[in-house]
Amino acid sequence: MSSQLERNFVEMTARMTKNEAMDEANRCLYCYDAPCITACPTSIQVPNFIKKIASNNMKGSAMTIMEANPIGASCARVCPTEVLCEGACVLNASTKPIKIGQLQRYATDWAIDSGVQLFKQGEANGQKVAIVGSGPAGLSAARELSRLGYSVTIFEAEAKAGGLNAYGIVSFRLPNDVVEWEVDQVVKLGVEIKTNTRVGVDISADEILAQYDSVILAVGMGAVPNLGIIGEELDGVHDAIKFVKDTKMGVLTEELIGKRVAVIGAGNTAIDGATCAVRLGASEVDILYRRTEKEMTAYQYEYEFAKQDGVGFKWLTAPKQIIGNEFGKVIGLECVKMRLGEAGADGRQRPEVIEGSEFVLEVDAVIKAIGQTRFVSLVEAFGLQHTDGVVDIDETTMQTSNDKVFACGDVVFGNGQGEAMVVTAAQQGKDAAYMIHERLRKPSEIA
Ligand SMILES: Cc1cc2nc3c(=O)[nH]c(=O)nc-3n(C[C@H](O)[C@H](O)[C@H](O)COP(=O)(O)OP(=O)(O)OC[C@H]3O[C@@H](n4cnc5c(N)ncnc54)[C@H](O)[C@@H]3O)c2cc1C
Ligand code: SF4
Repeated sequence: MSSQLERNFVEMTARMTKNEAMDEANRCLYCYDAPCITACPTSIQVPNFIKKIASNNMKGSAMTIMEANPIGASCARVCPTEVLCEGACVLNASTKPIKIGQLQRYATDWAIDSGVQLFKQGEANGQKVAIVGSGPAGLSAARELSRLGYSVTIFEAEAKAGGLNAYGIVSFRLPNDVVEWEVDQVVKLGVEIKTNTRVGVDISADEILAQYDSVILAVGMGAVPNLGIIGEELDGVHDAIKFVKDTKMGVLTEELIGKRVAVIGAGNTAIDGATCAVRLGASEVDILYRRTEKEMTAYQYEYEFAKQDGVGFKWLTAPKQIIGNEFGKVIGLECVKMRLGEAGADGRQRPEVIEGSEFVLEVDAVIKAIGQTRFVSLVEAFGLQHTDGVVDIDETTMQTSNDKVFACGDVVFGNGQGEAMVVTAAQQGKDAAYMIHERLRKPSEIA
């Protein structure tokens, strides 16, 4: 059975064949002022990389992608392309958009397979930058700073670098070897990654501030918060991020085979938790959301994907308590029906409990996926201003309330600021690197 489970976690989408890639590349109109470039947060020169595929210049194509986006191989697989580059393709009006994500994968897979090192470290300028966190934001910043000649050290709490790409986004969409290649491209530029090093525990914020010329905080977000209901301590209750992480690390439990699972929440994490549960053999998986389909934060393609996997959706439904048996094992979830009331300060209609509508779902496991907590104490250890844990920045300079410290990625997402996407984290990492360069470069280097 375990080899069947392993097969369930292998990348689902096949790479384009050469003929498919050529045919698709030749469909591109190579628009002047192409809207796909503007729609890509990292401004990849999309028509340019596609033209290079059509002329069989694969290294050139991969370089065009990776120059703009140091996480371009992962983004080829995880970007919500229908709302970004492909959504902007002019061919939407007449036929089908160009499969930009798949062509991007075709070109970056070539680079992975060829073992080519695409970029070079810049001449050392004697300045040192510390980056806290090796996710898309941290890696992207590190690559650009190293190319500009900075000595870069990344501090990473986990045993593996890559952030949520390494342990958060399911392996059947984003396999580990792709993430490892992107990390390796950065390490080969001389960036030191100190893994198993949690800032605030293994080294203090003050030590980092004292030892480096500038600091980038790119720690993302934390664990899933508690639901605040009875029964969360029971055996069979999971944090979705930890649940997905185990599957990424190859820990494929057989405990869910034939079991019924409820997933609470309706964002990226909920979809990934639910589809992992299906692949671990659960017989019935339902996503519960206290609002409706219209308000869910998961992308349309994720929603469609979960439905194809057989995941059920129970809208306007909230958990009330998790029920356990005498051995402390989950056997049910008491729920209550909701309705949407008046709009709150954020403009979204508030869900309200319908009194007396309680009912019990018989389930064997509950996966909590209601967002992520914030690293408030770390942010405060750096002495940074924040709003409910979201680091306050000047959005043009990525600078925090301490002019030596810049922040990017999920740590600045929230309260109407930014987007929680790999591609935006990659762009913000680049922006933070360029802003540090503006701040630290010597007057003689300024033309
Ligand atoms: C389950 C899930 C699925 C997702 N699916 C998609 C998707 O399909 N497409 C998409 O575009 N986005 C997706 N996202 C969002 C995307 O993963 C994030 O927006 C992106 O990873 C943010 O990058 P980051 O570098 O800011 O943070 P992260 O990727 O979270 O990286 C932060 C790093 O900092 C490290 N760290 C934290 N604290 C410390 C400390 N004290 N000391 C040292 N290191 C520390 C962490 O271990 C981590 O490696 C998903 C998110 C989740 C949770
Ligand atoms: S990085 Fe993402 S948004 Fe940009 S072109 Fe590639 S797939 Fe599209």
